[in-house]
Amino acid sequence: MTVDFALIGHQESWQAAADVLAILRGAPLPDDEIKDILPWIPPRAICHVEVGSSTGATAHGLYIDSFIPPDHLEAAYVQENTARVRAAAACAINLGAKIVSLGGFSSILIEGNFDQLPERKGTVFTTGNTLTVGLIVQGIKKMCTLEGRNLRRSTLLVVGATGDVGSGCARCLAPFVKRVQINARNEARLRKLAAELQADGVQVEIATGLEGFSTEADVVICAASLASPSLLLGRIARDAIICDAGYPKNLSPNAHMADAKIFFGGLGQIVGTLKFAPNFDGILNRHPFPRVVHGCLLEGMALALEKRFEPFSRGRGFITPDRVEEIEGIAAHHGIHLAPFYNADGPLEDCIAAAASFDSVNPGRGTVSNTRTQCQNTILLLNATDARSRENG
Ligand code: NDP
Repeated sequence: MTVDFALIGHQESWQAAADVLAILRGAPLPDDEIKDILPWIPPRAICHVEVGSSTGATAHGLYIDSFIPPDHLEAAYVQENTARVRAAAACAINLGAKIVSLGGFSSILIEGNFDQLPERKGTVFTTGNTLTVGLIVQGIKKMCTLEGRNLRRSTLLVVGATGDVGSGCARCLAPFVKRVQINARNEARLRKLAAELQADGVQVEIATGLEGFSTEADVVICAASLASPSLLLGRIARDAIICDAGYPKNLSPNAHMADAKIFFGGLGQIVGTLKFAPNFDGILNRHPFPRVVHGCLLEGMALALEKRFEPFSRGRGFITPDRVEEIEGIAAHHGIHLAPFYNADGPLEDCIAAAASFDSVNPGRGTVSNTRTQCQNTILLLNATDARSRENG
């Protein structure tokens, strides 16, 4: 089989890892054994993936799990995890993948430096961060419209602003807001980004601590490479719009922001088809809506459907509005759009209504009935998984 694309990923939680292992083994493992076994599993392809474009084209690929343990994302494990990403990349190369998306922490570990990857024989790599930025920016604009906010009067805070995703978001949104606040730990890198934005006439404030800004932000993007959801935002407007684009999520579950409009960002939805063999649907894509995938993985699929086997997103800090527009155009051509909104409490939009709006764009494709069934199946699966997590404490 031709391998048009490969997706390198890892699981965000022990529950997700347990579900993956249960499918691979054909039976669940006792919970106490999973943490002992997972670190010993080498990276490997775990399923075939077929993506169908709204043009009728299809692309075939593989999902390669690097089996990075969900609680091993801290700096202490960098060497071990980088070796796992390299092994996953070697696996993609040996299986003949034409393009590989580096999902989750994979691109962070190699710091955008593709020279750290094994020798490639006709395989190209993309971080997938350009489409991720496009989907985050689309999400912010759509949420502002839904909430009746005027983006032009907003103060935008980007946490993790000097990263590849954060800096791309800052560049794309700066022309549309009143002022930009940028946060990360390294001050020199913040100053460099601030100088770049100021050269375009943007009003910019920098701070290495979130309490250090002079005004409260009312639009926030969280794009820091945190090993676990631990971010407490501190001084922001009570009713701020907040996009959490982290993988793992950035926002701490202890962040009490009852009036904030929080959504998980950087996610897209495929209008056409998405099939896994064996069936990992709802396991590898754990979202309350069908055919929703992280932007970084979608970028590889969109480029494969377009037959543009090129390292579209590489390095760090090169994401520009022009490149974002280009990849958004490719994705949209194949029916890949912004996903309906949800957060830790569940869906913020009616997925049937969201599907109906796709149908109006793609008449006769039967998306609504497919989506209704798939939404119900996905929600049942997530409910069952939640119930199991509660039982397991
Ligand atoms: P990078 O490594 O390029 O950037 C990470 C940024 O986070 C840097 O600005 C870093 O700066 C900052 N940072 C790290 N720790 C902290 C901290 N404690 N407080 C504030 N800032 C911090 O990562 P990417 O831009 O590639 O990815 C960012 C996030 O987006 C990750 O969680 C990643 O998994 C996620 N992502 C999500 C995707 C999706 O599809 N939704 C796709 C791609 C990425 P400094 O070190 O100076 O603090």
